[in-house]
Amino acid sequence: MKRLEVLGWWFNDDAPTGLPRPQLLLGGMTATARAAVASYLRAGKVLVRYPEPSHCRFACGEPDMGRADLTDGTFVWPDGLVHYIERHDVRAPDRFLAHVTTNCGAIPPFVMPKAAFGLFDTGPWLAWGRAQRACLDLSGWDIPTGEVLARVAADLGPVPYEAILLCRGTTREVVLAIADGALEVRQLRAGGQPPRRLAGFQEWPLAGEATRDESAAQKPPSKPGRGLTMDAFFAELQKKRGLDPS
Ligand SMILES: [Zn+2]
Repeated sequence: MKRLEVLGWWFNDDAPTGLPRPQLLLGGMTATARAAVASYLRAGKVLVRYPEPSHCRFACGEPDMGRADLTDGTFVWPDGLVHYIERHDVRAPDRFLAHVTTNCGAIPPFVMPKAAFGLFDTGPWLAWGRAQRACLDLSGWDIPTGEVLARVAADLGPVPYEAILLCRGTTREVVLAIADGALEVRQLRAGGQPPRRLAGFQEWPLAGEATRDESAAQKPPSKPGRGLTMDAFFAELQKKRGLDPS
């Protein structure tokens, strides 16, 4: 199966992952390149439609961010990607610019792929985002679901928070969303470190070349039942997008 390279999947404050933050990808494209890319993106063919619309990560108030994934048989992108490029001057990967140029700005004829599990390849997009220093370093952190979520909530007791966003089994730490987009990193251990406050994910350390070896070395062994690993999260996302593994 020929896989489709994902473009324009963004970090989400409510469900943090290693996906790039568009706020860290501003500028770098000429007006001509931007126009060519926007026109190419608009010409994509609908691969999957979703019941829920997307939202702009810049919270600019745009009500219509689309609810479909478009493709040209090589790449796949949400139809809202063009908004980021035109309105917010977010750049696209060079390899995609080269692809648009090679095809003279027009989508070449292609056979629409069948939606299937594993069709979407997030690898190059994530690698590009990290190389651009646009991704957060979330190594070791998992997304709590179900039972884990209930256990963490019980451990937190009367601590005020809006949501439990991440957990790290090795250090028994959790990341809580508190009021006004602020975050609190809290250790669920008697005598643990005092809670740390961050104004938001913009203050979280970035993943990048300099820290990659270090974080790989520190990466704890995966412990089942501690939450959803990032890889599992992406697999879930593919399922949600109608790309059922069965
Ligand atoms: Zn916007």
